[in-house]
Amino acid sequence: MTIPDIIKSKDKGFSIEVLPPLKGKGIGQLFENIDRLREFDPSYINITTHRSELVYRSTANGLYQRVTERTRPGTVAVAAAIQQRYEIPAVPHIICSGYSKLETEYALIDLSFLGITNLLVLRGDKAKHDSRFTPNENGHSHANELQQQIRDFNEGRFIDGTEMDIVAENPFDYGVAGYPEKHEESPNPDIDLFWLKQKVDMGASYIVTQMFFDNDIYFAFVKRCREAGITVPIIPGIKPFSTINQLTILPKVFHVDIPSDLAKAIMACKDDNEAKAVGVEWFTAQMKGLYAGGVPSVHIYSLNATKSVEKALKNIF
Ligand code: FAD
Repeated sequence: MTIPDIIKSKDKGFSIEVLPPLKGKGIGQLFENIDRLREFDPSYINITTHRSELVYRSTANGLYQRVTERTRPGTVAVAAAIQQRYEIPAVPHIICSGYSKLETEYALIDLSFLGITNLLVLRGDKAKHDSRFTPNENGHSHANELQQQIRDFNEGRFIDGTEMDIVAENPFDYGVAGYPEKHEESPNPDIDLFWLKQKVDMGASYIVTQMFFDNDIYFAFVKRCREAGITVPIIPGIKPFSTINQLTILPKVFHVDIPSDLAKAIMACKDDNEAKAVGVEWFTAQMKGLYAGGVPSVHIYSLNATKSVEKALKNIF
């Protein structure tokens, strides 16, 4: 089943997003986190993908060695492990950042063999040491170029133009990212919307939004998308506040506004435990408001906030 089919079949559905474990850590903690949320019946589980980053390692002679390392490898394997263990559809993220077209092709072959055909297709974050996004040599610059590669793959063509002997029976279906408060690099909301419409016209079957903390911003974004002729489901992405310093980190990293009422409540917290309680309350109200507004599903950035998400879901279901 595709994600649009899954969400259509379920009232008040939600998905969760998890990170692959850090290199060297086992998968146990990830399973524990999923176990906590499983009783609420998530419709599907997204698995993020992380590009390689420059790291400095100290060497025996006291100097530092600069190496490029992927600190969270294993998205495809984690997706397969989740689908096998929980029988919940897994949605791996496929990104341009840090990947060549050929590496992506290999990942698509692996996923196709595994029967994992629901994807989220993204450009990916820039490298931490870069001031702006730089594509990999032989990689893609934007999500829509990656979409073209997936379209060719679905039609039986590899990147070098050769044809597959056997074309997979189940083609890849995928969603793309949308930004209710505009993508950070976009000159204005209309141009951002122009590119979003291009991604949908190229075959994205749904949109997942960047996180937001004010539901009115989401509903206004959906209205603008509909006016621009975008008809696919637009799944709101939300996350519970869990630390006081997220008050400055979230706007900086994700380019989102924190509504004044929430900001004031967090500023009044004495410690992160109090911030977590405020976060759960806000998240619960947000999720209830989204359901009341008839959203197709809710995407939860559960990442490092599993316990808060669990508390909120207990309030809701
Ligand atoms: P694009 O669609 O390529 O857009 C990037 C910018 O370029 C936008 O400003 C857009 O308006 C503009 N644009 C788009 N197409 C073109 C074009 N053809 N020509 C010129 N300009 C264009 N990052 C990760 O690294 N790993 C993840 O797992 C991950 N998961 C995410 C999940 C969700 C739900 C969301 C919302 C984001 C996620 N991100 C992830 C972050 C995302 O990769 C970044 O926000 C990235 O900067 C943009 O990705 P995109 O797919 O929206 O890019």
